[in-house]
Amino acid sequence: MKIAIIGAGFTGLAAAYTLTKKGHDVTVFEKDSQPGGLAIGYKEYVWDWSLEKHYHHWFTNDKFVLDLAREIDHKVVIKRPKTCVYVGGQIFQFDSPKEVLLFPKLSLWNRLRMAAIVGLIKYNPFWKPLEKFNASTILPRAMGKTAYKMIWEPLIVNKFGKFANDVSLAWFWARLTKRTPSLAYPEGGFLDFANHLVKVIKKQGGKVLFDTEIVEVKDEGKVSVKWKMSGSSEVGENGKWKVDDFNKVIFTLPSFLFMKTAPQLPEAYKEKFARLKGIGATNLVLRLKKPFFSDGTYWLSMCDPDSPALAIVEHTNFMNKKHYNNEHLVYVGNYLSIDDPRFTMSAEERLKLFDPLLKKINPDYKNNLIGYELFKAPFAQPIIPTNYSKMIPPMTTPLPNVYLANIEQVYPWDRGTNYAVELGEKVAELVNNK
Ligand SMILES: Cc1cc2nc3c(=O)[nH]c(=O)nc-3n(C[C@H](O)[C@H](O)[C@H](O)COP(=O)(O)OP(=O)(O)OC[C@H]3O[C@@H](n4cnc5c(N)ncnc54)[C@H](O)[C@@H]3O)c2cc1C
Repeated sequence: MKIAIIGAGFTGLAAAYTLTKKGHDVTVFEKDSQPGGLAIGYKEYVWDWSLEKHYHHWFTNDKFVLDLAREIDHKVVIKRPKTCVYVGGQIFQFDSPKEVLLFPKLSLWNRLRMAAIVGLIKYNPFWKPLEKFNASTILPRAMGKTAYKMIWEPLIVNKFGKFANDVSLAWFWARLTKRTPSLAYPEGGFLDFANHLVKVIKKQGGKVLFDTEIVEVKDEGKVSVKWKMSGSSEVGENGKWKVDDFNKVIFTLPSFLFMKTAPQLPEAYKEKFARLKGIGATNLVLRLKKPFFSDGTYWLSMCDPDSPALAIVEHTNFMNKKHYNNEHLVYVGNYLSIDDPRFTMSAEERLKLFDPLLKKINPDYKNNLIGYELFKAPFAQPIIPTNYSKMIPPMTTPLPNVYLANIEQVYPWDRGTNYAVELGEKVAELVNNK
């Protein structure tokens, strides 16, 4: 079959990998100039490895993506970096039951109660009964208001903003259940891993076209795909519209973009899935001559509802700085609605906003600053409200030859490249079996 895949994020790449392996004639269209989607990386000319625009790692139980890495023979680094919380202006290690039980900002009773509830949720194998409850209603009742307000509420509020009270307990369950103390990372970075996959897809006979933006898809027995070259590529001339026909098309974009691109979709379908909401993300990447954290912390969650950042992540306390010309690389990350005025701020404005917080943790950081860059993703995280299982769009769509496999279908697990790979493989099987 002649199959088009829209998007070279990990869903699209996994689908293309699976379908080319089965001998199909596959073309991937990607509007960016590189593969990887939300996990895309970039590389300063002095670095050997690429760095993600937004912090990324795998858990050691991320089976689908780790199996894929093994299959294409891409090496993976596994380490146990240090994870901490920032409470009342101090940093506390918070990545093992022992550290939680020794956490000095809560009374012994509150610590025990919180640890018991976290354990109960984490090791409960049944997520479905949890999806009808809001995390913000149940958690303070279960673990006590003090612990909830000190640790968990700021994290949920900083992540979901105005949607914080909508988030389901099943999402919280997934976050706790999935976490592993050790983390994994592809050698060379996620961009290198995505490029490796592209190479294998091409070797298996597939085409991957970059700078190619899909503008319209119509299913008339065969599916016509209209695209625009947004830069140099393997086909056509810059700026020209092109149309080609395919037997099947797989969309991997968020649903609102799918609906914009497929005008034949019935109104009832559009109305139903227009209810799905998402939030954007921004990351300011600092390049420093010296470490930012004095204690080797990789991940610092800001447990303060007034914090201008959700997390500060020192990537080079996870991956060796030698891959980045001995620079120390630090993310200052936020999730923000795209209508939040901070979303449109420049890198300079964001640094100014973060500066008092960064100085509190490392008063000298500015003297070590080599450079900084701001990255933005307008749709970074779906909002997962109660009973989300009833809101998920299916992979089949009202257009018989058009399929949807996107970030909003990942559930109950929190979205991630592991689930993108699982989704890509699943939709490929569905198309292959038609
Ligand atoms: C801040 C942040 C932190 C994260 N942390 C982690 C982490 O630690 N570990 C982890 O595994 N995951 C993490 N994720 C999630 C992970 O990046 C995503 O779940 C995953 O990459 C989604 O892949 P996808 O292919 O489904 O979608 P996307 O990556 O969104 O891919 C869709 C692709 O479609 C392309 N596209 C869009 N419109 C068009 C068009 N009209 N024509 C052609 N192409 C188009 C886009 O450019 C993009 O490449 C994080 C994400 C963010 C934002």
